[in-house]
Amino acid sequence: MKQITILGATGSIGLSTLDVISEHRDKYSVFALTANTNVEEMYQQCALFNPRYAVMSCNDSAVALGKLIENSELETEVMSGDEGLHRVSEHPEVDVVMASIVGAAGLKPTLAAVHAGKRILLANKEALVMTGSLFMAAAKKAGAEILPIDSEHNAIYQCMPATYRSGMPLKHIRRILLTASGGPFRNTPLSDIKGVTPEQACKHPNWSMGRKISVDSATMMNKGLELIEACWLFDTTPDSIEVHVHPESIIHSMVEYDDGSVLAQMGSPDMRTPIAYGLGWPDRIESGVSSLDLFKISQLNFEQPDEERFPCLRLAAEAYRLGGTACAILNAANEEAVDAFLNKKIRFDQIATLIERVMESLAPRQQADFDMIFEDDAAARLMAVKLIEQGL
Ligand code: NDP
Repeated sequence: MKQITILGATGSIGLSTLDVISEHRDKYSVFALTANTNVEEMYQQCALFNPRYAVMSCNDSAVALGKLIENSELETEVMSGDEGLHRVSEHPEVDVVMASIVGAAGLKPTLAAVHAGKRILLANKEALVMTGSLFMAAAKKAGAEILPIDSEHNAIYQCMPATYRSGMPLKHIRRILLTASGGPFRNTPLSDIKGVTPEQACKHPNWSMGRKISVDSATMMNKGLELIEACWLFDTTPDSIEVHVHPESIIHSMVEYDDGSVLAQMGSPDMRTPIAYGLGWPDRIESGVSSLDLFKISQLNFEQPDEERFPCLRLAAEAYRLGGTACAILNAANEEAVDAFLNKKIRFDQIATLIERVMESLAPRQQADFDMIFEDDAAARLMAVKLIEQGL
């Protein structure tokens, strides 16, 4: 029986993870669940999965959950804040940590699991984008296994030789073909993009996801973050990765070998497939995902990304090239920009403008340690807020 901690259990990835686990109660036991403020959902999950611990990052929410649990038959212990998150990430009885908190907030608990040498199912791409080589070095040192859950990186991992592990140098591989759906605004006239609403941006054509990653998909910053993520996971550079817009989201990515063979991983766009892969690895387990109907899909299309429409892709590649804390600065500026857009403080097209302004204003520091990364993350957020207040 594997003991699982789910960081970000109330989110889209957390819910899909619990859905897969619920089909395999004989193999997986939920050790701990975490969330930020969603007390109601967390209480329901505790009732269904009976975890040893439930952690609410927000203290008031932890108090509210504690009261609900006290008045029930449940024996789950409630904890709060960073300390609670760390405890359930590194607990000696935990085998697998699903890292699915959204954004930089997921970095510290994910790192705690890395340092404790856990198997980590990595959905929280921002953690790796921010800390890159430090994250991978810490995993290597502690013997932590990093299994990518992002569907594209999971696809690439599945196309690698069976002996391949995250962080190993690539052998006999010409290039990685990273697929992207192009999001909801792939064909929207450029003149109309300025006026799009958060609701339109969050309406992804193929995937059902949290709001932040949905906006990232609409700007294609998601693909930019994934480009950086792929560089760290597969020890490569952007020169060996080519983004292919593939609107059907059936091929989740491809790997081209030296002999010209191109291996692709395909499937319905449903995160339960990569999650089941991570939980079951190196075996395969049932995910609940329906079979692919290629007769119905009938056509797969590919396009080059439009850089004018999607400047975030260029900004992400630039951040990777700059190195040091540049990716942390990019990520922080993006998180602030997306938040401001969702709260209608800036327009959709200003997301990229804001990120670029923040990157121009702050020089990234090289040979950064974790502290420097946290400092530059904070500096980028301050700068973004200031620029928003000044009207950009
Ligand atoms: P959601 O917004 O749906 O869920 C986020 C989860 O994180 C919730 O449990 C939320 O708790 C928790 N959370 C939010 N803020 C904090 C905080 N400050 N401290 C602690 N916990 C917090 O996100 P997704 O599930 O869509 O995405 C999660 C991660 O997975 C992201 O990094 C995303 O990029 C990645 N990913 C997601 C995919 C998807 O299909 N959704 C696909 C590939 C990658 P609460 O509910 O209480 O707010």
